[in-house]
Amino acid sequence: MLANNTTNPLAQVLTPEAYAAALHKVTQQISQAAAAAQRDVNTIALLAVSKTKPAAAIAQLYTLGVRSFGENYVQEGVAKIAELSHLSDIEWHFIGPLQANKSKDVAENFDWIHSIDREKLVQRLNNQRPSTMPPLNCLIQVNIDDESSKAGVALSAVAPLAAAINAAPQLCLRGLMAIPDPNRNAAEKSLSYQRLAQACQQLQAQYPSADTLSLGMSDDLALAVAHGSTMVRIGTALFGKRA
Ligand SMILES: *Cc1c(COP(=O)(O)O)cnc(C)c1O
Repeated sequence: MLANNTTNPLAQVLTPEAYAAALHKVTQQISQAAAAAQRDVNTIALLAVSKTKPAAAIAQLYTLGVRSFGENYVQEGVAKIAELSHLSDIEWHFIGPLQANKSKDVAENFDWIHSIDREKLVQRLNNQRPSTMPPLNCLIQVNIDDESSKAGVALSAVAPLAAAINAAPQLCLRGLMAIPDPNRNAAEKSLSYQRLAQACQQLQAQYPSADTLSLGMSDDLALAVAHGSTMVRIGTALFGKRA
């Protein structure tokens, strides 16, 4: 069911040319942001956020060389992983909030999880990760804007959670992730990004495997790269608007 439509902004699958143009633009934005921050562009990974978009859209970006995809909803993600199992070098990232009763699907199907926010998930994922698979790469989600309503832990709660992940043999501690409050202005975001980047450096000093800062989306990619992001999560700018 290819919509093959570049004019409808909500089309589920765009033309190959549209994906190529979108990828080119995002890649350029990353390069420019890296140059402005005097950073090596190769230290910034692109995660294509494919939530709500069909497997055919993912396959288009795969053809263009993208290998890392992020999904927010367990069932939807697992279905696409099965549908695209022939593209065996895709790295699948789970980036949405995770209910404990769905942790097994993540443990058995994904390569990364960005949204660890409680010790219960650490124990479950460690027990459920098949021993035949490499350890599940884990990021702790930090609530940088300190709003109790939002997902993620306070910076002060990172240390015990990191210790628990590090002690879990089927998990690999890879770093921190955050979603900024979209209502904050750039100056406010800058401040919280600085604190987060500093926490990430401290974490890596203690745990060398924690080399990843997952930060930046379509609207704040450059700001995130300026503050040390090593993985930007880009949805809309690559796949078009979501319904
Ligand atoms: C949807 C989503 C993104 C991508 O957001 P865009 O603004 O579409 O680039 C990134 N990270 C998370 C956690 C998301 O849920």
